Amino acid sequence: MSPIRTCVACRGKFEQKTLYRLQCADNRVIVYANRGRSFYLCAKCVTAPKLSKQIVRHCKKEVDIELIESLKEKLA
Ligand SMILES: [Zn+2]
Repeated sequence: MSPIRTCVACRGKFEQKTLYRLQCADNRVIVYANRGRSFYLCAKCVTAPKLSKQIVRHCKKEVDIELIESLKEKLA
C-alpha cells in the first residue's frame, strides 16, 4: 500500500501516489525536484480557485500567482 500523505490545501489524507508533489522555490511553485522540502496537493485542490492563497501561506512568502496558474494548466 502506498504511504498516506496530507494535502496542504484541504488537509485531506490520500495515498501518496494520487497526490501531486510540489515545492516552493524562491517565489515559484515547481514540481518536486528531489531536493529540499516538498508538499502535496490532491487532484481536486490543484485546480481549486483558492489554491494560490493557501500555497502562499504554506510557503510563508509571496509566490508568483501566474506561475501557479501555469502549473495548474500543466497538471490539468
Ligand atoms: Zn486537497
